[in-house]
This record gives sequence, C-alpha cells and structure tokens, in this order.
Amino acid sequence: MEKENLTTAPIVEIRPHLAQQIERELGQNVYLCYQCVKCTSGCPMSDFFDWQPNQIMRALQLGQEDIALHSVTPWLCAACQTCTTRCPQGLDINGIMEFLTRQAMAQGIKPKVPEVAIFNRAFLRQLRIWGRLYEPGLMVEMKLSQPQSLFEDIGLYTRMLRKRKVGFFPKLVRPPRRPRPKSHSTQAIAYYPGCSLHSSAREFDQSARAVCKVLDLEIVEPEGWVCCGSSAAHRADPEAALKLPLQNFKLFEQGGFNEVTMPCAACYNRHQAALYEIRHHPQKRQAMENVLEYRFQDSVKVTTLVEAISIHAGKSKVAERTLKPLNGLRVACYYGCLMTRPPAVTGVAHVENPTEMESLLTAAGAEVIDWSYKTTCCGAAHSLTKPEIVWRLSSKLIVEAQKASAEALAVACPLCHTNLDARQFQMSLEKPLPVLYFTQLLGIAFGLSPAQVSLEKNLTDPFPLLRSKGLIG
Ligand code: SF4
Ligand code: SF4
Ligand code: SF4
Repeated sequence: MEKENLTTAPIVEIRPHLAQQIERELGQNVYLCYQCVKCTSGCPMSDFFDWQPNQIMRALQLGQEDIALHSVTPWLCAACQTCTTRCPQGLDINGIMEFLTRQAMAQGIKPKVPEVAIFNRAFLRQLRIWGRLYEPGLMVEMKLSQPQSLFEDIGLYTRMLRKRKVGFFPKLVRPPRRPRPKSHSTQAIAYYPGCSLHSSAREFDQSARAVCKVLDLEIVEPEGWVCCGSSAAHRADPEAALKLPLQNFKLFEQGGFNEVTMPCAACYNRHQAALYEIRHHPQKRQAMENVLEYRFQDSVKVTTLVEAISIHAGKSKVAERTLKPLNGLRVACYYGCLMTRPPAVTGVAHVENPTEMESLLTAAGAEVIDWSYKTTCCGAAHSLTKPEIVWRLSSKLIVEAQKASAEALAVACPLCHTNLDARQFQMSLEKPLPVLYFTQLLGIAFGLSPAQVSLEKNLTDPFPLLRSKGLIG
C-alpha cells in the first residue's frame, strides 16, 4: 500500500531561480543551510516576522518565491547581522534579506512594509542633494508620507528642538577634487563624525573632542566627507553603499592619514564593509577605481572611537588623567550590534563580549556591571519607520540593565543613544535610566564641566544621578 502511494505521489519540480540569482550576485549558496535555526534563535526581530529567517532560507531552497518575496521579514530585518555572525555555514543572511527587498521592488511587488521603502528613497535623495543626511528633512518627509503617524513622534521632535539637537538648515557638501595632505596628518587621526554628530548627537561630538584633547590625541576632521549611506544604501542601492565610503577613503588617503576613527557604529560598519568588498572582489575594486578616478592604496585603518582611545591612550593614561574618579557609579556598557559584527568584516575578536569600554571606564573609577545584552540590537534601523518596535527592543535593554543593578548606561554610538536616551520618555518604564556617551563619563572623570561634555543635551536627565555621586556641582 505504502509503495503504491510513493509511486503515485505527484512530482514537484523545484525552480530555484532566486537561489541561483543569489549565488550569482552575492556569492551565497543557500543550499548550504541545514536548518540549524541559529539565525532565528538569535534574531531580535523574530517576534515581528511572518516567516523566520531559517524558513526564508528553506523557501529559497525550494524555489518558493511567493514566500520569499511577499514576506514582511526581509523588510523588517534590522540589519543587526547577528544571523550572519552566528550561521555555522557562513551565510550572509542579512545580505540575502536585503537582496530580497530589492528583488521584490524590481519585480513590481508592493513593499510589504511601505515605510521602509519610503525611508530608503527619502534617505538616498537627501544624500544625492546634500552629500550628507539632513535629519530634520528626513524626519519631515517620513512623517508627511505617513500622515497617520504624524503625531507619534511630535513629542520627541519638540524635545530635540528645545535642546537644539537638530540644525534648521542643511549644508551642501562635496568632496574636494584633490585634497592636499596636511603636514602632520601621519601623526594625527582622521575624525569622521558622520551626519549625526553634526546634528542630533552634538553632545557626542563635543565630549569626544574634549576627551581626546585631554588624552593628547590629535584628531582632525577632513573637509568634504560624505555620508556613508547607512542601512538605506546598503538595502536599496549596493553601488552607492560601496561608492560613498570609498569616496571618503579616497579623501583620507589623499589627506595623508593612516587611521580614521568613527564614533558612529553604523558609519564604522559601512566603511569596514566597503574595505572588505574591495579586498575580496578585485572586479568591484576596479569598477570603483574607474568611477572615482582613483587607485586605492588600502592604507587607512578604521577604528571605532572606543578602539582609538584604547589603543592610543589606554587604561593607564585614562587613570592618570582622572581627577574625579567615578567611584560608586554602577554603569552597564552597551555596544549595540554594529561595532563588532560580523567579525569577518570588523576583525573584532570578542564579537558578543567586547570589553574595551569597560576597561576605560574602570580606569576612570566606575563600577562596571556584567550583563548579557551589551551587543543586542536596539532596532535603530527602524527608528523612523517602526518606532513601536524600537520602544519594545530598547525598553527591554533598559529594564535588563536595571535588573543587573546599573544606575546608568554607557553607549558609544549616536543611533543607540537616540533610541535609549531620547526615546526613553515614550517607553513604559518604572523608572528612568540615564544614558550617557562613554566620552561624557570620561570627561566628567577628567574634571571637565557638564557644559564641556554637553550633559544638558541628554534627554533623560543625568544630572540628579551625577550630583548624588558628588561628580558634578
Ligand atoms: S544559521 Fe545558517 S545554517 Fe542555520 S538555519 Fe540559519 S541559515 Fe541555515
Ligand atoms: S540581520 Fe538581525 S534582524 Fe535581520 S534577520 Fe538577521 S538577526 Fe534578524
Ligand atoms: S550612518 Fe553615519 S554617516 Fe550615515 S547617516 Fe548615520 S550618522 Fe550619518
């Protein structure tokens, strides 16, 4: 009986067009997936997906394009790269998700999460016009295109305006055609602030510059840098995602720098990813060299600001310059997802458990606490598209830090800070948790005034906590 069923079972032909296209365009073989489910179990967004990452991989293997292209999953993927980092078969699942959104658009399939498509378009338009992101323009365009959410973030914008965290006018930026090396640039570190540090994260910019000065690190901001394109370019326009960071590398190399430090984790990640691409794909390198009319030397090292301070100053210098130790202040360090992942791109040894920020803050006298969420995604990619997701992911981080007895969070990325600090008033929390840039905390320990590290710009008031510890007057 069983044998008869088998022989009469209909034969289903698998047409793996998408799988073949993914292999051709991304060099990813989806048939390597053996359904271990590690991608799904580590995914911070899995509660919001209709199909889980491992199920999307199975659908691609089976040629079920209707599932892969009509799912909300690729659109809601937050690009945290946890899946790409953890996949035992080395599959770039995040890259595949982004490919699927582009493919859906190319086939004329209505985006399953229209806000994301609107965001990508608006973001890239800003870059084409201004060369950098004009945050207020992006916010207004996003809200006008979804009038139903117009009032959702009105409280946030008014608070940011009151704190002068957003500039009113955009600035037109174009890279100089032939930048001249500065005489001292081989000793100095190029400083790439990224768009946020010139706008909503001025407190990071100011405290970073102040702290570097105390530590005798010479940082120089090269004129004419452009936005890295962030997740919008990576998702919607891979050519721009490569060209924009490389345009900056051309600038750094021509300026004579050996190192560039990037306080924004997204900028750091996108620039490292561009270097990885040209190192591993000679034909892409050649194409970009033709477009940019420049032969890359690959002579500039990229560091996060935490890394740069750790390497060039280190614990001993931080301890030496500490005048007001952060004694008794219990701090949880939060790195977010993009400072370390994926390790093939960042070269970071301890992807899930980095410790550089803890070392620096311990040297400044703080009591750093151990917790399990230091690289868990806060949902930054959806800050303007799906704030309700950000509230959920970020409030969990705050609650977990509080459960671990932290009195403050230390962060090292403007996007993490916006979610955890500026949006905190929108979350249902029992009590607030001050969120400070690690440079603000170091600055206070070095005896700088609250104004010198722009403490007044933080939206979740850090003054009462720091006063209670006798750290500020
Ligand atoms: S982690 Fe990799 S191998 Fe495991 S299910 Fe996901 S894609 Fe497949
Ligand atoms: S990149 Fe992050 S959000 Fe996207 S599927 Fe992977 S783990 Fe989930
Ligand atoms: S990723 Fe960096 S450069 Fe790009 S928009 Fe964000 S802050 Fe600006």
